[in-house]
Amino acid sequence: MTLLLEAKVYIVGAGPGDPELITVKGQNILKQADVILYTDSLVNEQLMEVAKPEAEILKSAGMNLEELVDCMVTNVEQGKSVARVHTGDPAVYGAILEQMRYLKRAEVDYEIIPGVSSVFAAAAAAGIELTVPELTQTVILTRAEGRTPMPEREQLKDLASHHCSTALFLSATLIKKVVREFLEAGWLETDPVVVVYRASWPDQKVVRTTLGQLDETMRAEGIRKQAMVIISKAADERLLTEEGKYESKLYDKTFTHGFRKGEQVNG
Ligand code: SAH
Repeated sequence: MTLLLEAKVYIVGAGPGDPELITVKGQNILKQADVILYTDSLVNEQLMEVAKPEAEILKSAGMNLEELVDCMVTNVEQGKSVARVHTGDPAVYGAILEQMRYLKRAEVDYEIIPGVSSVFAAAAAAGIELTVPELTQTVILTRAEGRTPMPEREQLKDLASHHCSTALFLSATLIKKVVREFLEAGWLETDPVVVVYRASWPDQKVVRTTLGQLDETMRAEGIRKQAMVIISKAADERLLTEEGKYESKLYDKTFTHGFRKGEQVNG
């Protein structure tokens, strides 16, 4: 562990929940930070067990933005290193922009350390590849419109019209609307959906369903928060048994790429 922390703010992605899913760099920062600020409702407390005994560990759920940023600024001005821990990866729905804006204004340095987003923990738990050649090569990370309005050109129906893998954050209570917009965009009621509740936590649940059954299934399972909803043709379990279909060219014998020359196949 060679990293030596500076007096600045480290915005650290904590990963989806499992304390082993933080990056090595993120964990090294937690080991050395003078102050750790984390969202107690979402970040696994176990991650703080590596903190040095004299570290000040603060929960941020009860703080407003100003209190939060004041706390970071004051500590850095006293020469301390601050780890601001966010769930998953800070770049997706992390609400870090407003924090960075304040820090910049206060002339306090910061650095972002990426983390494993819950979308990837959910895909792993469900055992799916989100980008299957010839089936879908694009992933949309989005959310349903709730209290936060969606930009006009990002309406779910328009996004759904691409028919690619779609991962929905923050949408567990807005599922009826999600289903309606996907069906309007031409998806079928039989199209596969996987819902992962609390991916990588001990009480994780992976629920496979279809677009037509999605609302009912989530209600029956009592899933209303901390869920990743992946709507994707690639979430179809039958793909695992249908040999030859949708294989990546990367491992194809006849395909030449930067690291391997393909074999000539006659006939
Ligand atoms: N920055 C985070 C997302 C924060 S927004 C990330 O990269 O994962 C919070 C939303 O993320 C939740 O509403 C839920 O949709 C999703 N989420 C966060 N942790 C999750 C988990 N362990 N399992 C499933 N979904 C999760």
